[in-house]
Amino acid sequence: MTKIVVFSGAGLSAESGIPTFRGTNGLWEGHPIEDIATPLGWKRNPQLVLDFYAQRYGQMQNCQPNAAHFAISKLAAIFEVVCITQNIDTLLEKAGVNDVWHLHGRIDYHKCEWHFGIPPLDADWQCDYRHAITQPTKLGDLCPQCGRQLRPDVVWFGEAVDMRVDDLYEILPQIDVLIGIGTSALVYPAANLLRFFAGVKDKYFIDPHPNYDALPDFNIIQGAATEEMPKLVELLRAKNS
Ligand code: NAD
Repeated sequence: MTKIVVFSGAGLSAESGIPTFRGTNGLWEGHPIEDIATPLGWKRNPQLVLDFYAQRYGQMQNCQPNAAHFAISKLAAIFEVVCITQNIDTLLEKAGVNDVWHLHGRIDYHKCEWHFGIPPLDADWQCDYRHAITQPTKLGDLCPQCGRQLRPDVVWFGEAVDMRVDDLYEILPQIDVLIGIGTSALVYPAANLLRFFAGVKDKYFIDPHPNYDALPDFNIIQGAATEEMPKLVELLRAKNS
């Protein structure tokens, strides 16, 4: 069966009403990235960070999947699809896609502040507590394992991304098609995935403002996710059936 990787970024969810942050002067919903998406910002003002993600949680709970999410779900029903996303929203899951690989975490989970990245470099341990939430995390919500403050399960700039390199190497030889959608391909190390799959013959990229420099050998489809993804699914279905 044809095996497809779909690698998505914030643009996939833009038409569901969740803004991207590139193109808005590096601000995410009006906030400088360093204030709300870095370990230093967390250290300086955890209340501001928790308030920011509480708003994102509320916003994302109220958003619905769009035609592109549903098209990916349809694709997964026809072919063997591995969905890798930089998004922290769960709209792919809401559209019926199972096993989405969230490189940058999920808005509906929290974790101990000593989970990856936060401890000083000389720390010889970290806490692996991570759990689903039903309401936003507050200051004073403490880790049941080690008693430290809980924080959003979001990978911030300067923190390690769980790239699952072994899994990537395992699936690489079997991949027939790569689809990139709605990402500036500027956020590393996630953007390296496009290079990792460079040997895949059939490659597509959907974005209204594609980052051409990062996309050699791609069939670039310049346009909006909701218009172009359903068309691409039909094209792949016709081509591979
Ligand atoms: P980005 O903001 O850097 O880039 C977004 C890309 O989406 C751009 O290339 C833009 O041209 C494209 N785009 C805009 N509207 C589109 C549409 N209708 N259809 C298709 N593409 C469209 O996003 P990124 O590269 O994903 O990196 C930003 C980081 O910020 C992510 O890693 C993520 O963790 C976080 N983020 C997540 C969300 C979310 O979960 N929905 C939203 C904002 C930011």
